[in-house]
Amino acid sequence: MLTILNPATEEILRSLPTDSPASIQDKFALAKASQHRWAKTPLEERKRALQNFAQKLKDHEDTLASTLSQEMGKPLSQARNELRGLQPRIAFFLEAIDSVLREEDVTPRLPGEDASAPAPLREIIAYEPLGVIADISAWNYPWFVSTNVVIPALLTGNTVLFKPSEYATLSGLAMVDLFHQSGIPKDVLLPVIGGGSVGAALLEQPLQGVFFTGSYATGLKVASAAARRLIRCQVELGGKDPAYVCEDADPAAAALSLADGAFYNTGQSCCSVERIYVHEAIFDRFLDTFLREVATFVVGDPADPKTYIGPLARKEQIAFLEAQVQDALSKGAKLLLGGKRLDGKGFYFEPTVFTHVDHSMDLMKEESFGPIIGIQKVSGDAEAIALMNDTAYGLTAGVYTSDAARARKILDLVSAGTGYWNCCDRVSPRLPWTGRQHSGLGSTLSHLGIRAFLQPKALHLKRP
Ligand code: NAD
Repeated sequence: MLTILNPATEEILRSLPTDSPASIQDKFALAKASQHRWAKTPLEERKRALQNFAQKLKDHEDTLASTLSQEMGKPLSQARNELRGLQPRIAFFLEAIDSVLREEDVTPRLPGEDASAPAPLREIIAYEPLGVIADISAWNYPWFVSTNVVIPALLTGNTVLFKPSEYATLSGLAMVDLFHQSGIPKDVLLPVIGGGSVGAALLEQPLQGVFFTGSYATGLKVASAAARRLIRCQVELGGKDPAYVCEDADPAAAALSLADGAFYNTGQSCCSVERIYVHEAIFDRFLDTFLREVATFVVGDPADPKTYIGPLARKEQIAFLEAQVQDALSKGAKLLLGGKRLDGKGFYFEPTVFTHVDHSMDLMKEESFGPIIGIQKVSGDAEAIALMNDTAYGLTAGVYTSDAARARKILDLVSAGTGYWNCCDRVSPRLPWTGRQHSGLGSTLSHLGIRAFLQPKALHLKRP
């Protein structure tokens, strides 16, 4: 059984039976049997189901937001933001799918040859679905990360075994239910329920693709299991995302932007700002606004509209953050705000700000995934770039400056899948979401994140 807790109250919300290797095998068989039929379903019909899904998200927003908030502690207003943020993503997928699926005629033509005349030998790239894929998902943005996979997978004609995180299972089940109500057949999208061992059992099936979102440690296991069987695999993993504030930036504007980037969703975003480097010339002015802003963040009941910081989703993360705090203090960091869990019920941790940090500290090297940030003073671009690159991760990196050329030069020198100028913690459906190094392999979103669910077929077509 899977027991689902409310992290704000520690009360049990639900207990659910989990899948077994046998039930997973049965679900795989259903998904396999339906895949050809689904791939042959006219694209217009698949798109219509997605349009219905978009409408149902709006119709059921109150209930869905409340479920999400209760099971992972996300403040209700932020849960609504996540659900509303699905609309532009769906609109993008609907708009882009036709062109991504279109065959490409790459027949070579001689100079001066009439390109409209039929060639004796045509060369075509066609695109086919992978087949049955697994989506093994995380809890922190459960709607975003699961639909980034499930929607393009379905639109391109794959069938999907979807394992939501054990910390966001109720939202995962609600999502599957909404897809079924919208016209996606029950044997085309099937939920698989449970924790890590259920995820591992799912990987035992003869899948054609595995799409994973989660931690680096688990991502390694998933990628290794897929590699052993030569299964197409994408892993979207954690980050230790840096931001650098140059001396020509507006320190107050940068501080407000980065306080939100570090603490939104209680710091539990893969692209949360996790390290801040500030030029010494504006350090004090930046810090002043940053601390005043963080001090206004209301910590409390996720259902209260004033709440900005909810509980951590997972109890274990409290000890992890406490260890980062102790490690930083023991190495000379200065604690300016927070630093400990809140007394009473719920997995709450105070918004925590350190200065006098350096890269000997775990706080500046290991993903925190919580409401804690280190701010380090730097002397200029060269030092900032070296520090930003001093990481095993490579998800996003940001720079704050009034100089566009300087921003671009710095972003080009930082190894990260996403670069931000004067912004942070932002995702666009039109741009690939992609990590480097320990942040992962492959892309979701953009046309690349649709093509990820297709395999090419090279056609050599010779007229008799
Ligand atoms: P996690 O690695 O603990 O779990 C992710 C999923 O893997 C869960 O569904 C879990 O049940 C499953 N799992 C666990 N062990 C498994 C195994 N041996 N085989 C197969 N599946 C297994 O991660 P989490 O705590 O859910 O998510 C937090 C992490 O995800 C953070 O590191 C965060 O940065 C990252 N994340 C990355 C992105 C991105 O797009 N790059 C997005 C969201 C979260």
